[in-house]
Amino acid sequence: MAAGRFAPSPTGPLHIGSLYTALASFLDAHAEGLAWRLRFDDLDEPRNQPGAEARILRSLETHGLHWDGAVARQSERLDRYQAALETLHRQAKTFYCTCSRKALADSPTYPGHCRERITPISNAAIRVRVDGAALEFTDLVQGRQRTRLDRTVGDFIVKRRDGLFAYQMATAVDDGNSSIIRVLRGRDLLATTPRQLHVMALLGLPAPTYAHIPVLANRAGEKWSKQTGAPPVNDQTPQANIRACLTLLGLPPPDLDLEPMIEWAKSRWHISRIGHQDQAFDPRPG
Ligand SMILES: [Zn+2]
Repeated sequence: MAAGRFAPSPTGPLHIGSLYTALASFLDAHAEGLAWRLRFDDLDEPRNQPGAEARILRSLETHGLHWDGAVARQSERLDRYQAALETLHRQAKTFYCTCSRKALADSPTYPGHCRERITPISNAAIRVRVDGAALEFTDLVQGRQRTRLDRTVGDFIVKRRDGLFAYQMATAVDDGNSSIIRVLRGRDLLATTPRQLHVMALLGLPAPTYAHIPVLANRAGEKWSKQTGAPPVNDQTPQANIRACLTLLGLPPPDLDLEPMIEWAKSRWHISRIGHQDQAFDPRPG
């Protein structure tokens, strides 16, 4: 069944910013008649926090955000990413890069030092070649996008030196799955989308439609995240939390219990109502 998806990293509990994105993605999928899939983007093993996955699942359920089908994990899909990487190798689109971080520090785009290193080298990252073609797509919230990867990032990493598949690679393979037709996520990820589209195009995968929604910011204007000290959502107050998120999404709800409130929001959701600007929100009193 065609689906939208929510793909948190299990690096900590849900916070208000991730609950807001989860709710928007959930409502959008339901309003479009799609299934809502849940996937843990858990490849960066050292960043995963023990217990975070179970805690996120519990929070979603407590907030009435029930997902469809089995929970997917990127860590269980390594053979798919490897097969995709081999497809890129066969197209001669990849090369082995031994540049140090320091050597690349002064260059905003990859300068192409290792482009001719096409035979395997140990202790090297694997990069995919980009070209000068313009990548265009229409984002449902942010509008028409046009990027040239050679001018913005250059050849980028698809498998890291430490052996982990890069976010761009894994996400392209997973979101390029023909059943995922809608990807709603925070606009902080908008700049990564052309890289995923590039990998999807090389692999012949169908691209989903994207909607990059504003993110919730704290009083300092920083996106709420674990790094900016976002407090975990309080599972004791799901109704108030969903009410706050709906209000931030431009759907201030009437006085309803949790499940009827979500049903109310499903019937009123439309992506065209979402604004472009990030919203300041501070869940702490005072
Ligand atoms: Zn290099």
